Amino acid sequence: MRIDILTLFPGMFPGYLNESILQKAQDLGQLEVHLHNIRDFAAGKHHVTDEPPFGGGGGMLLKPEPIFDAVESLILRQAQDKVFNLQSSEEKDQRLKIEDMPIILLTPQGRPFSQTIAQELSQHERLVLLCGRYEGVDERVRQHLVTDEISIGDYVLTGGELAAMVIVDAVTRLLPGVLGAEGAAETDSHATGLLEGPHYTKPAQFREWTVPEVLRSGHAANIARWRREESLRRTWQRRPDLLLTAELDEADRWFLGKLAGENS
Ligand code: SAM
Repeated sequence: MRIDILTLFPGMFPGYLNESILQKAQDLGQLEVHLHNIRDFAAGKHHVTDEPPFGGGGGMLLKPEPIFDAVESLILRQAQDKVFNLQSSEEKDQRLKIEDMPIILLTPQGRPFSQTIAQELSQHERLVLLCGRYEGVDERVRQHLVTDEISIGDYVLTGGELAAMVIVDAVTRLLPGVLGAEGAAETDSHATGLLEGPHYTKPAQFREWTVPEVLRSGHAANIARWRREESLRRTWQRRPDLLLTAELDEADRWFLGKLAGENS
């Protein structure tokens, strides 16, 4: 997957991108991240990227031209890679719509990010992430350029860079071969619609706390059932709302009924 990130602060990314799983994904050839400084696309001697909003009010807004130029140059470059000649601006508009390349604005007003959205994004070959700053971006960027808007939570950050990193991280760990033996994304919390149950490692006894016997039994079926039930228990305790949409079988329903009975 190739991810292009448009930001005024590209220097914020390398520390996180060049460590651990994200570095591994790049080494494996599963992830390519291209950082683009929006300022490089701003015209004029001073490369102005922001202006005060029309109508007054505090703060500054990111201007539309450098952002359109940055994204369109990415599209053009991609089109050139595919030996496709853009003939007209209408055709260019069409390319913007039909390319398998979501152009995502990070914004507290976007759809709430989730594991389901991470899975959806991981299916694309390319993503463009646009990081806002200050009071945000000119409305015409939202209306005529971006194809998706994502929020990482109901709070306001100073810029979209952390949100972009959250998305890059959550999506990358779903790419083939990236997690390897270090963890299976399929059993993570939210991947199945449930929270994951508890895990233990050595030592089997720490202070007076012992690892549950079943996990040391070597009995695969019993361990799988225990894990499923602890996952259900944890979800029931912490996020009962998730049980309304999770896929549950007969045994799961029986166990949840038992839990409810024990706690009534
Ligand atoms: N004035 C904007 C509003 O009220 O919606 C908030 C602007 S915020 C200070 C600056 C930038 O940070 C936004 O343009 C966006 O890119 C990013 N940002 C802030 N909070 C975010 C969130 N919860 N999720 C994603 N991006 C966020």
